[in-house]
Amino acid sequence: MESNQKEKPPIIWLNLSVFVVTFSVAAIGTPVWAWYHGFDWAQIAMLLIGFTFSGMSITAGYHRLWSHKTYEAHPALKFIFALGGAYALQNSILHWSSDHRVHHRHVDDNDVDPYSAGRGFWYSHIGWMLREYQQHRYSDYSNCRDLQKDKIVMWQHKYYLPLVFIMNFGVPIVFGLLHGDLWGAIILIGFTRLVLNHHCTFFINSLAHIWGTRPYTEKNSARDNGFLAFLTFGEGYHNFHHIFENDYRNGIYWWQFDPTKWLIKSGSWLGLTKKLRVTPPDRIEKARATMLLKNIQARLSVSPNGSYRVQIIEQEYEALVARMSDYYEAKKRLIDMKKKNLLKKYEAAILVQQLQILKSEFHQQKRNWQTLTASYA
Ligand SMILES: [Zn+2]
Ligand SMILES: [Zn+2]
Repeated sequence: MESNQKEKPPIIWLNLSVFVVTFSVAAIGTPVWAWYHGFDWAQIAMLLIGFTFSGMSITAGYHRLWSHKTYEAHPALKFIFALGGAYALQNSILHWSSDHRVHHRHVDDNDVDPYSAGRGFWYSHIGWMLREYQQHRYSDYSNCRDLQKDKIVMWQHKYYLPLVFIMNFGVPIVFGLLHGDLWGAIILIGFTRLVLNHHCTFFINSLAHIWGTRPYTEKNSARDNGFLAFLTFGEGYHNFHHIFENDYRNGIYWWQFDPTKWLIKSGSWLGLTKKLRVTPPDRIEKARATMLLKNIQARLSVSPNGSYRVQIIEQEYEALVARMSDYYEAKKRLIDMKKKNLLKKYEAAILVQQLQILKSEFHQQKRNWQTLTASYA
């Protein structure tokens, strides 16, 4: 543990004032303005557009593109994300990504993880930015050498402050003048939008490490939480993200709310994104099954004649893993051979048939496993 309990590092007055002023204007100014002048649909729409634009520049750009390199993006898209990131006022791409890579590498290490959830909700949410906790590595970007070669990243880093002013004042002022309610726009699209953006993103460091389930791993504090995914453009599936950080998706199932994934995927149809990385499905399924087994073992270890039931479940788990790897390996082999054109027609037909058998065996075993573990899931 750090000794900061006794001697806290000095306050960063700039950050503190930004958070206090923006929050106060949003919390007081918005209802007062709404009461005396009202907001119309165009202003509400602009609030949502601005919120989505800056929010997704962080999730799709800062996070999944630059911090984790889960896909490649067209320079035009990168440029848009760079502007949106400045609009979100969360420091430059380079700085944000550097912090975030440390967070993943040293997650939950209270001395190194810049926003370690182990130091409590307040610290991981916003407290970490209010004092000079990170002074020793403030401009150490050695974990982002790849990003230092990215022209757009370095351009945004160099002109970060002017970009922040242009976006945060320019957008609301221009919109306000065109629309005819300057102050309403400044309050709603400038301040309120920014505060919403800030706290929704901050929830990923705080709540997404405290509140939710851990279906994939218990090695770190990250949680899956559908409600948070709704507030954070899909980043709430944080347990999955921490174990498979190179995946461009966070919510991997079709019913999970992950608009950042949808944006990246649809970008690939337009040629704006490419080389989208996904985790092999067997690794995902194995992680889930292993986690479930662990939970069952823990629960049955305290119940009478639990050891017999555990034995059966362990056997089924072994069978599941074996069938799973048989199937996925055969599938991989077949795809590989097809790619290299190594197969004659009849050989391919035989292999496809064999694969079908392995698939149905695997699915049968999966059903067994689901029935057996249903009462524990
Ligand atoms: Zn991440
Ligand atoms: Zn995290």
